[in-house]
Amino acid sequence: MKKKTSRSDTRPTGPVVKKSCWFCDNKKIPNYKEYADLERFVTTRGKIVGRKRSGLCARHQRSLAREVKRARHIGLIAFSQ
Ligand SMILES: [Zn+2]
Repeated sequence: MKKKTSRSDTRPTGPVVKKSCWFCDNKKIPNYKEYADLERFVTTRGKIVGRKRSGLCARHQRSLAREVKRARHIGLIAFSQ
């Protein structure tokens, strides 16, 4: 008999994250001018929250990263704390 060595058994399981995208739900598009919306996807230390924690779709996660960088460049969001 073969031993069961599937990779999914050893992979750590993180916290359960809901799959709905905040920007899709609110029918919004990430925009550097609305930096109050962007700040919810930035940690207190100024990092952009990853896909797993933010739960955004691919399209909005990409545009979020772009808009956060724009907002940082102008000085609306801090680079680091
Ligand atoms: Zn989305």
